Amino acid sequence: MPVTRLAPSPTGALHLGNARTFLVNWALARQRGWRIVLRIEDLDTPRVKPGVMDLTVDLLRWLGMDWDAGPLVQSATPQPHVDAMEVLARAGLVYPTDLTRTQIEAAASAPQEGSHEVVFPASLRPPTVPGRFDDAHVCWRLLAPPGEVRFEDAFAGPQVFDVSRVIGDFVVWTRRTPDRPGQPAYQLAVVVDDDRQGVTEVVRGDDLLDSAARQMLVRRGLGIGREPRYTHLPLVLGPDGRRLAKRHGDTRLDTFRAGGTRAERVIGLVAHWCGMVERPAEVSASEFLRGFDLRKMAREPIVLTAESLAWLSRRT
Ligand code: GLU
Repeated sequence: MPVTRLAPSPTGALHLGNARTFLVNWALARQRGWRIVLRIEDLDTPRVKPGVMDLTVDLLRWLGMDWDAGPLVQSATPQPHVDAMEVLARAGLVYPTDLTRTQIEAAASAPQEGSHEVVFPASLRPPTVPGRFDDAHVCWRLLAPPGEVRFEDAFAGPQVFDVSRVIGDFVVWTRRTPDRPGQPAYQLAVVVDDDRQGVTEVVRGDDLLDSAARQMLVRRGLGIGREPRYTHLPLVLGPDGRRLAKRHGDTRLDTFRAGGTRAERVIGLVAHWCGMVERPAEVSASEFLRGFDLRKMAREPIVLTAESLAWLSRRT
C-alpha cells in the first residue's frame, strides 16, 4: 500500500507555506488511498520549544487534516539512526571530521553560481575511512561519489544533480555539544525513517530538491533498493520574491487563528494558490479534498500578496 508522511519540524509554529504543503500532501493521499503517517521531525532543529509539538499537531487538525498513524516523534527511536551509521561506517562510506567552517572555506573554491553553500572539497577527505562509528565530539560526513544522480519528480519533472560537484561530502551526523549528544542530520534521519515507516510517496517544497539527491546517496549507501516517488511543490514566497520568512511579518497559522481567522479562509487561500478557485473564497477541508487537482497547479512559485493577507484578516 502506498504510504506518505506529513513531516513538520517543530521549529516554530506552522506558517502559510507549510499549510499549502501539508494540505496538498493530505489531499493527494486521501484521493489516491495512500496511508498517512504524521512524523514530527524534532531532530531537524537544534532546540524544540516546549509546547510547539502539540501546537503543530493541533494546527493540522484545525485545518481539517487527519492521518492513519502517529504522531511519531523522530527523536523517540534513536537506535535505527545509530545502526544506519554503523552500516555506512562499515562500508567505508562515512568518516568523522572536526574541521571548522573557516578551514573548509579556506580549502574550498568559490561557491558555484546560484548556490549559497560552500562545496566541501574532496581534498579534505581523510585518506582512509574508519570501519566503526562512534559519536566522539565530531560530525560525520558521507562521501559524495562523482557522477550524476537522476530522478523523475512527479511535479517538477526530470532532475539531475552531481552532489560531489554542487555540495561535496555532506554531514549525516552532527557534532555533540555540551547540552546534547551528537544526533543524526536531517539527510540521514529522513532516509532511515522513511524506510522504517514504509514511505513510498514524498510530497514537500522544492527547496528540498537537492536534498532528494543527497537522500538517494544515503539510501544507496544503506542498500535500500526502493526509492520513494517524489513530488516537489513550488515554494510560497513573500511579496519581495524571497522565501517566506519572519521579515514578511507574522504568517504563522496560530497567529491568524488567535486573531479570529477561520480555517476555511486559510484553506481557501491555499485553494486559490493551487489553481482551484480564481479568487480566495472560504473552502472546507473536504471541499479542498474533492476539488484538488495537481495538474491545475502553476509551476511558478506562489507569491503571498498584501491582498492575500487582507483576505485572511477580513472578518466578513
Ligand atoms: N521536516 C521538513 C520540513 O518541515 C520536511 C522534510 C521532508 O519532507 O523531507 O521542512
